[in-house]
Amino acid sequence: MRILVQKFGGSSVADLECMKKVRSKVLAAREEGYKLVVVLSARAGQTNSLLERAYQWSDEPDLAELDVLLTTGEQESVALFSMLLQDAGVKARSILGFQIPIITDDAFGSARIDSIDATRLRELLETYDVLVMAGFQGRTPDMRLTTLGRGGSDTSAVAIAAALGDDTRCDIYTDVDGVYTTDPRMCKAAHKLDRICYDEMLEMASMGAKVLQIRSVEIAEKYNVPVRVRSTFSNDPGTLVTKEDDMMESVLVSGIATDKDQARITLCDVQDRPGTAASIFNPLGEAGIVVDMIIQTASRNGVTDMAFTVSRKDLKRAIDVLTKAGNDASKIESSASIAKVSVVGVGMRNHSGVSGRVFDALYKAGINLIMISTSEVKISCLVDEADLELAVNVLHKEFDL
Ligand code: ADP
Ligand code: ASP
Ligand code: MG
Repeated sequence: MRILVQKFGGSSVADLECMKKVRSKVLAAREEGYKLVVVLSARAGQTNSLLERAYQWSDEPDLAELDVLLTTGEQESVALFSMLLQDAGVKARSILGFQIPIITDDAFGSARIDSIDATRLRELLETYDVLVMAGFQGRTPDMRLTTLGRGGSDTSAVAIAAALGDDTRCDIYTDVDGVYTTDPRMCKAAHKLDRICYDEMLEMASMGAKVLQIRSVEIAEKYNVPVRVRSTFSNDPGTLVTKEDDMMESVLVSGIATDKDQARITLCDVQDRPGTAASIFNPLGEAGIVVDMIIQTASRNGVTDMAFTVSRKDLKRAIDVLTKAGNDASKIESSASIAKVSVVGVGMRNHSGVSGRVFDALYKAGINLIMISTSEVKISCLVDEADLELAVNVLHKEFDL
């Protein structure tokens, strides 16, 4: 039995017309002789509107109940799409995360998959030609529903391909032709990459390129799942996400990622002594708040400023946590009108001078750098949100992408 996993994102299943396009893709693969697991997201906007509704009902919705609510978005998609396939004479049925089952931990809202038993899927594929599976969801060992974090249907799809084994391919269908050198909605000069290696894709995703969820790339790399990102609305072959090869190593910079989900907090004039950082970041960690960039300024008369970034949704909570935990800062400042731009490329491992070029290009465009962080394959700069688009375009040009 040749099995193919196809995943379609929210904009691909937005309405009946879109779902009919999805059906054509599924039927074409069926014609090629594949049995299919088709993983669907909630219809575009549905997860956001469910979230909004939850916050109208409650100031602080219970995270477990929130997951029960959010999973309905994907449940709606799979039921409707199964009907559409059945109308075309296809032997199809829907399957929800808990029915497979996809077992996760109990981190409601951002659960991690612990195990998937693909036995039942394989059995069902003996009877059905297409299984329409709800993305983004699983269950805990004690039967509570969970979701896998925003964009989590990508992870459901790759994880199912990994669980099916036998080099099962995973095609991720979305609203762009593949992975581009940068977000094509932000830079007209962006162009599609034919291939990108797992490490680069991981950095791009971690730095904010939401075309693939980070976890999906981690799983693809770990289990060697060949992933292709392509469009529901064209016949372009898309981008293959794959192992690094010799050709790729010679590329210095492969892409530029952006992340608007950034907010900065500065604790001014904290004591410059051992334990200060721990007293700030431990309470944040215990509250489940992820800290991204951190800068500690040089000491002035025994005091220093500690600045760091968190997700915008965590800003208010982070300040509450810091205030409750107590600290010796003279004041706490914050800003949510900032964004991160990152230059990514595995070729940087063996080359120097990339950061100089980044800083120089941004300086010549009059863009102020608020924070900087680097790894061996990326350089990230925090800039004013109003400068983000200019920064992307300037860097895209500087590295001839
Ligand atoms: P889906 O609903 O199909 O999961 P997403 O909205 O999650 O789609 O991801 C696709 C979007 O990712 C594109 O519309 C594009 O704006 C954005 N994006 C950001 N960076 C990139 C990139 N480097 N290449 C392609 N798309 C990107
Ligand atoms: N529906 C979920 C979201 O909007 C999961 C997904 O689309 O991948 O984040
Ligand atoms: Mg997505």
